[in-house]
Amino acid sequence: TNPRTPLASLSDDDLAAFLTQQQAAYAALQGRGLKLDLTRGKPASAQLDLSNDLLHLPTSTTDRAGVDVRNYGGLEGLAELRELFAELLWVEPSQVVAGGNSSLTMMYSTIVDFLLFGGVDSPRPWSREEKVTFVCPVPGYDRHFSMLAEFGIEMVTVDMHDDGPDVAAVEALVKDDPSVKGIWIVPTYANPSGAIVSQEKAARLAAMPTAAPDFTIFWDNAYAFHHLTEDEAKSADILSLAAASGHPNRPIMFASTSKITFAGAGVAVLAASEANVRWWLGHLAMGSIGPDKVNHLRHVEFFRDADGVRAHMRKHREIIAPKFAAVDEALTDGLEGLEVAEWTHPTGGYFVNLDVLDGTASRVVSLAKGAGIALTPAGASFPHGHDPRDRNIRLAPTFPGLDEVRTAMAGVATCVALAAAEKLTQ
Ligand code: PLP
Repeated sequence: TNPRTPLASLSDDDLAAFLTQQQAAYAALQGRGLKLDLTRGKPASAQLDLSNDLLHLPTSTTDRAGVDVRNYGGLEGLAELRELFAELLWVEPSQVVAGGNSSLTMMYSTIVDFLLFGGVDSPRPWSREEKVTFVCPVPGYDRHFSMLAEFGIEMVTVDMHDDGPDVAAVEALVKDDPSVKGIWIVPTYANPSGAIVSQEKAARLAAMPTAAPDFTIFWDNAYAFHHLTEDEAKSADILSLAAASGHPNRPIMFASTSKITFAGAGVAVLAASEANVRWWLGHLAMGSIGPDKVNHLRHVEFFRDADGVRAHMRKHREIIAPKFAAVDEALTDGLEGLEVAEWTHPTGGYFVNLDVLDGTASRVVSLAKGAGIALTPAGASFPHGHDPRDRNIRLAPTFPGLDEVRTAMAGVATCVALAAAEKLTQ
């Protein structure tokens, strides 16, 4: 059999021969006793090492206003860090809150505040609505969906395209149904597709009429600065777009240094209209006397300014871009021409999105597991873990070493080809 012929066009005999060949390749793979993990988008230790100077900072105990950072206070975060992030995110310092180490926690408490108290434009708390629905572009970030599931918030999906969600579908969903209160958007280098929301789509999301007066865009810019090429994408300025179209409180933006400095000890930020910031801090004030300003200050000393962050991100790129290239190489080597898989070529972020033959993603993941290669569960990028076409697999190549990525991905290619051959010979 010619491996470059589309599998579906092979004769029965050739397909049977291909299946036998892949079964042998899989048996050999199992025989290698691999133990590799491509499940989560974690920085590699070499990336964490880039920020080791943080372990000896800050050198000062006061911020530039002379306030002792070791003490309570300053709920909105250190002014100099808010300025730094304001420049990076194209917003005003007064629109930024610098918080703890996790932007996911900030998203969680934002939704809790909407549920318990309602937002600035809410007629009542979301918990007193009969039903709350979120629009979920798919494939998307699994933790966004599991958070909504925990709150009993309903999820309706729209397709994610290369330039952002299917906005016409979003517009249709929000127009007449007041239960639709929110949407998740990862605008830059989306998890897992790598998509970048275009200026035009961002403007439509900001301007579209919504039945709910408090419809909120959860603009999770987790990968805003995480470029993999010299072509550094700029995120659309959603706060200005929304303000200009009369919906200043619609977007709430999130970001963090989890994949810039330390994933477990970075700084998360929220950015929104000043009214939203007051609302958010008002509720936070009942649960905190102030954030970890020592951590804020050491980040300021470490980066100095926004250019410091940009330069630092180029060092990350040197470490991880070769791993993304290795994913593409292995998939191309193993699968090109078979027409049983498509994968993304992200220019930033932490993931490669692999779509295999419909109905085979779960099989691929279990085959990989049987060969010692841990992949994110099939369907993880869909609400309730359910991919209706069972074809989507999220690959996270940053954590393992480069050789491990090569080995693991060659193995994944074998599993994809085997699962496809099984399916087509059924
Ligand atoms: N948002 C997205 C889209 C992510 O992919 C991740 C981590 O994978 C996070 C948020 C988590 O961010 P944090 O570490 O700031 O909680």
